[in-house]
Amino acid sequence: MLDIKITRAETLKQKPADNVLGFGKYFTDHMFMMDYTEGQGWHDARIVPYAPISLEPSAMVFHYAQEMFEGLKAYRTSDGTIQLFRPDRNIARMNNTARRLCIPQIPAEDALCAIKTLVDYESDWVPHSEGTSLYIRPFVIATDAMLGVHPAHNYIFMIILSPVGSYYAGGLDPVKIFVEKEYVRAVKGGTGQAKCGGNYAASLIGQDKAEKYGCEQVLWLDGVHHKYVDEVGSMNVFFVIDGEVVTPELTDGNILPGVTRMSCLDLLRSWGMKVTERKVTAQELFDAHAAGKLDEAFGTGTAAVISPIGELVDEEHDIVINGGKIGAISQRLYDELTGIQWGKREAPEGWIVKVK
Ligand SMILES: *Cc1c(COP(=O)(O)O)cnc(C)c1O
Repeated sequence: MLDIKITRAETLKQKPADNVLGFGKYFTDHMFMMDYTEGQGWHDARIVPYAPISLEPSAMVFHYAQEMFEGLKAYRTSDGTIQLFRPDRNIARMNNTARRLCIPQIPAEDALCAIKTLVDYESDWVPHSEGTSLYIRPFVIATDAMLGVHPAHNYIFMIILSPVGSYYAGGLDPVKIFVEKEYVRAVKGGTGQAKCGGNYAASLIGQDKAEKYGCEQVLWLDGVHHKYVDEVGSMNVFFVIDGEVVTPELTDGNILPGVTRMSCLDLLRSWGMKVTERKVTAQELFDAHAAGKLDEAFGTGTAAVISPIGELVDEEHDIVINGGKIGAISQRLYDELTGIQWGKREAPEGWIVKVK
């Protein structure tokens, strides 16, 4: 068990009302920190008041982006229980990301202990309204004051918490997506399967371009052929083509292995549906639509759970999927996942971890 020293904030903040939360705008009173020093390992686990941190301007994270993060949520159920959804999956992924970025491993039991202890300590911050939750953002940064390019010898692991609103305050509105053929998010052999800030920095320009085309998000294609679908925005992507559920396979390492993606696959298979992980080209989507066979399309991720795609656009096409409305499979997955997360439906073995 991790020994966590707690320093209580002298004054606590006023909590925002549930209806103004949005995403990632407010932070709780405390945060978790733990230092890594080469030769000593991880040490000085502590919960301290949420506050700015001080780093050397030469700290490696600022220059070479040796940084990684995770994202999961704590949910309040109707009986007041606070629970996490498959945190073991996030922690396993965190250590896979760490390996790719030459960041030292964090023992899984220590990471879970840190998350649970901080969420429990801040449990008053888990909002109560329907669809709201407490977003948990663990991250690691390289702190060596050093401009040479090599893996750092010193790191900080931190966890911050942010109460977030219901993603769908106005219902599950399908979004308009731009098929991006110029910029790519990830390439084979790169960091696509790692959850790191660098991937996001590289994706901003695509997002910007999509907005110029009147779209909300980007459909990312593979970095070699600019042909196969990778992801949508910062979500994994699913299609229902002629009754078969299809999602891009993870084999090339350029797709982030989402916990929501994995959970959708598990649920769909448990329902006896035909599900395939394989390569899908953007052309196949346009062709399937022309043949009347593109039934549904949706993104999956922790923030939105299921995000229906209502329209796909590129320089030559503009197609509307399922009449611009959420499809039956998307809706069923959304209801089941949110039901499990907020404790209204029975969870498969091991999916729910109670904080207290
Ligand atoms: C975090 C993330 C996802 C979704 O993963 P979840 O575990 O389902 O939240 C998908 N794509 C990218 C690029 C991500 O960073």
